[in-house]
Amino acid sequence: MIRETFLPFSRPSITEADVAAVAGVLRSGWITTGARNACLEERFRAYTGGGDAASVSSATGGMHLVLAALGIGPGDEVVTPAMTWVSTVNLIVLAGAVPVFADVDPDTLMVTADTVQRAVTARTRLIIPVHFAGAPADMTPLRKIAEESGAALVEDAAHAAGTAYRHERIGRRGTAVFSFHPIKNMTTGEGGMVVSDDAGLMERIRRLRFHGLGVDAYDRASQGRAPQAEVMAPGYKYNLPDILAVLGCGQLDRLDDMNRRREALAGHYLARLTEIDEVLPLAAPPYPHDHAWHLFIVRLDVEKAGMTRDAFMAGLKERNIGTGLHFRAVHQQQYYRKTLNVPPGLLVNTEWNSERICSLPLFPDMAEEDVDDVIDAIKDVLSNG
Ligand SMILES: *Cc1c(COP(=O)(O)O)cnc(C)c1O
Repeated sequence: MIRETFLPFSRPSITEADVAAVAGVLRSGWITTGARNACLEERFRAYTGGGDAASVSSATGGMHLVLAALGIGPGDEVVTPAMTWVSTVNLIVLAGAVPVFADVDPDTLMVTADTVQRAVTARTRLIIPVHFAGAPADMTPLRKIAEESGAALVEDAAHAAGTAYRHERIGRRGTAVFSFHPIKNMTTGEGGMVVSDDAGLMERIRRLRFHGLGVDAYDRASQGRAPQAEVMAPGYKYNLPDILAVLGCGQLDRLDDMNRRREALAGHYLARLTEIDEVLPLAAPPYPHDHAWHLFIVRLDVEKAGMTRDAFMAGLKERNIGTGLHFRAVHQQQYYRKTLNVPPGLLVNTEWNSERICSLPLFPDMAEEDVDDVIDAIKDVLSNG
């Protein structure tokens, strides 16, 4: 039985209150970075328990600022997984540094102490683990490796708004970069947040975020423009407009509820997927954590199913079920195949998963019946192609 309407794999949860809040900013006379950003920064900082938070126009922009503030450049190596979004690796390469890939655990898709340790050399300046799909990476041993090697540690927390590791929210310690892209657990349309307990780093990030000026365009004390601002060092322009920041405030109010809803839907998927041998969900990490359920990722047993993952996704699409792919391994993308020459077999678990993963629909406004439709469609694809 085919669904009448298309079920997207993700859809932002926007309320009438969100719409009204954006309209309020539009009518206020100040629509770019200002009071709403100051409010979102402070509230997100308090939510994570971190030292300081700086809003940015995207997580990619935030990561760019972090790399620039750390002075990452030619001769430096940055250790990160190839099972990630391309933005991080693009930025490393654009900075003139070398990405060095650590393989991932086959069932959590996250780097481990072991794979990171093997990728670290005397030239390693930075390690960027990814908290994958809403689960946290194993930070305790990663912090130890960073400390012993003298490398900086920056967490890609794009999937981790609301995630906790050993009873501590991501962002509480160290430096983490969050994304507020529309598919993420909370959204500002486009946007992100850098959270860090390193005051010196945050001062450089705030300066680099807005042209290298000593203060933002919106001066917090004067509540208006600061015409006397001077360039302290050349910078970029990655500030978040208030039209978007106000959306983040409403989303943050509902983040825990939305994540609980994601968790319930994921639980329903996990229960129903026991009926299907060809489809394997990811494993939960073995240490204490709160899962934000950013994505519900499964792996297709292509041998048992007798079809490729791409055919499986196409079959679901024909049955009105949208899916996503998070992610095709970075080292297998055209440019990186040509320039990095990662020997096949070095990143075994990354490559095995890259061929088999698929993200099923998961968003807070979905119903349990939608999950049942996905399960029915999967069974139909597997038996009828
Ligand atoms: C979404 C995402 C990013 C980039 O976030 P933007 O806000 O779109 O720049 C970075 N890393 C990972 C793992 C992501 O999923």
